[in-house]
Amino acid sequence: MNIRHWKSRLRLGIELVALIAFIVVGGMVILSPTLPPSPADVETLTEARYYTKLDSKQVQCQLCFRRCTIAQGQRGECGARENREGTLYSLVYGQPCAIQIDPVEKEPLFHMLPTTKTLCLGTAGCNFKCTFCQNWQISVRTPEETNNVSLPPEEAVNKAIELGCSSMSFTYNEPTVFYEYMYDVTKLAQERGLWTYFHTNGALNPEPLRELLKHMDAVCVDLKGFTPEFYQETSNSELEPVLSTLKIIKEEGVHLEIVNLVIPTLNDNPKDIEDMCHWLRDNLGEEVPLHFSRFFPTYKLLKLPPTPIETLEKAREIALDAGLNYVYIGNVPGHVANSTFCPQCGQTLIWRAHFSVISNQMKEGRCPFCDHQIPGIWESGIRAGEKKSK
Ligand code: SF4
Repeated sequence: MNIRHWKSRLRLGIELVALIAFIVVGGMVILSPTLPPSPADVETLTEARYYTKLDSKQVQCQLCFRRCTIAQGQRGECGARENREGTLYSLVYGQPCAIQIDPVEKEPLFHMLPTTKTLCLGTAGCNFKCTFCQNWQISVRTPEETNNVSLPPEEAVNKAIELGCSSMSFTYNEPTVFYEYMYDVTKLAQERGLWTYFHTNGALNPEPLRELLKHMDAVCVDLKGFTPEFYQETSNSELEPVLSTLKIIKEEGVHLEIVNLVIPTLNDNPKDIEDMCHWLRDNLGEEVPLHFSRFFPTYKLLKLPPTPIETLEKAREIALDAGLNYVYIGNVPGHVANSTFCPQCGQTLIWRAHFSVISNQMKEGRCPFCDHQIPGIWESGIRAGEKKSK
């Protein structure tokens, strides 16, 4: 076979795979380019939860801090919820555009079921406008602009079980905007023995948040900075609702990990980082895991450099000095702070290189060297009806 013939067969093969590749092998995104990208007709749309009807067929969405007032025929700020004749609908229910199997460490969750796989779902839309969004290809798109797969909750859960995942997660774009889908998948997933969590910007309103947390085992919250100005200027959003969400998650006893993306010149002021770490310690306790993540130029911030590693190390030092026990550095593969250390005896408990676990010394949630209890979810396998190990 000559090289041209070989190449054309290869291209044909790739096209075929693109058309029929709905089977997931670890890490492969399963998208369906053959399905129509537009949302389903009104008969098949799912009515939104948490909204109030107003005069003149207007509605007010109560799901997140924006509380959008939406006129008939219009959408909310997130682009995923539409008012049709005075009824608010989710346009993305059962219509994910991002489906992938990840190691749980990639979320990042470092205190939950190490080395297990999770089935991640995401849709179009977001309620923030971050200039540094790493998933802007879907978050700033409408449901008509993404390639969506029809994946009802039951099929999503079946797929996760078939593929050997221990958990299901909701991530990539802001899961708040597909709340109804996330809620139904989560409830079913727990009934079927899977663990569940979501990665959020933390700006849900308290009522839907508390209801969702009844069915969530863990949450990863992006605390993007620690000044109202930073939130306003870089995300067109607010800090206060995020802090309120963090306190509610703590109150509800759901496992929580926090991610702070450190962006050069924008949120890397040591004083702000110190204030943030003191707030976390005082309001959430010294056991909450904190991940400082390295920024790489993306979306509207292409002119900024990647975060210097020394800046991340300085931030970690500030957090440790503030009394936080589990402080990680992410997006720096092989850094010593990818790993978990016992805060009591200092021994390495989980040695990681980026998202890979090289060795895990943990014994039933405890340090095997000094018996110190480590916060998190360490129990694997089927969990339906069983007591959660926190
Ligand atoms: S979820 Fe969307 S529609 Fe609802 S308040 Fe937030 S941005 Fe507005």
